[in-house]
Amino acid sequence: MPLYAWLDAHVQDRSLPPRLALYLNAMLTALAFELPAFLLGLLFGSFLNVCISRLPAHQSISKPRSHCPHCNTTIRWYDNIPLISWLLLRARCRDCKQPISWRYPAVELAVGIWFVAATDLSIQVVHPSTGPAVVTLTAAGVITLIALIILGFLLIGLLVMDWQTHTLPDAFTLTGTLLAFVLICARAVFLGPHEDELLLHGRNPLTSPGNVTDRGNVILTGPEHLVLGRLLAIVAAAGILLLIRFAYQQLRHREGLGLGDVKLIAMIAAFLGFWPAVLALFLGSILCSLYALTLLLRRRADALTRLPLGTFLAIGGLLAALFGTPLIAWYSSLL
Ligand SMILES: [Zn+2]
Repeated sequence: MPLYAWLDAHVQDRSLPPRLALYLNAMLTALAFELPAFLLGLLFGSFLNVCISRLPAHQSISKPRSHCPHCNTTIRWYDNIPLISWLLLRARCRDCKQPISWRYPAVELAVGIWFVAATDLSIQVVHPSTGPAVVTLTAAGVITLIALIILGFLLIGLLVMDWQTHTLPDAFTLTGTLLAFVLICARAVFLGPHEDELLLHGRNPLTSPGNVTDRGNVILTGPEHLVLGRLLAIVAAAGILLLIRFAYQQLRHREGLGLGDVKLIAMIAAFLGFWPAVLALFLGSILCSLYALTLLLRRRADALTRLPLGTFLAIGGLLAALFGTPLIAWYSSLL
């Protein structure tokens, strides 16, 4: 029985207050999308763990099958279920009893939660005061959803890899940039007529009364604007970091910023655009500085300590994906 009819039947026989029914309607409708997203996220998180373990060591991610890093025993399928196996095994290998890092369930859970957040950002659930909730997912919404889940997967992976091994593999950053660009081209296909056009003079039907066909002077059509704009965003974001890298080298005569960080910011720009990438850079730098400060205060670091900047840029990228649009809108309203 459809959810709404079931809830409505209970409202009719007064076993359920109408307000609660409305709330349940909203929550359960969203849950119908969030739950599969979460389960899919756990599976992707499990695969991400394999990438995190093998990519920095330049090992194949497809062969051999997952095995215990201590005793090399191939992990049985029932010991490889995301989250659950780690809990059932009490974080120990079934064969050698060596501890299994909490990184494995943490990454799985993070990707699961990310998939839920990406779903909530992409679908629109409208709850009329009467009648069933309406869920809309446009073509643009589908592309946004795919882009967000890929971005989150890559950023969570890069976050952990830079923290643990100080590497940001090209297999993630460059592949990610390419995928993001393909998705932007796909998004351009689904632009509505005149959507996202770049005009020299705005449409002004008042210049000649009755003129409703004046579309202004189109410099770039919607698809051109979107695709070229994103290319420019990638180049500009990478350029900013290359400039900082160059300045640091001139001042300190050593490498402070890796090329991996440059590619990471370019990837964030490819997925989200220029200003969200700047926001990610800004948030990442603040977080990294706070981390460096706590290390210095606890005398755990000096000026030569290598900081995993990529980890903080990745966190900045995740925050920019979640909160970038409202934050940037709020900031530009101040100007
Ligand atoms: Zn083992």
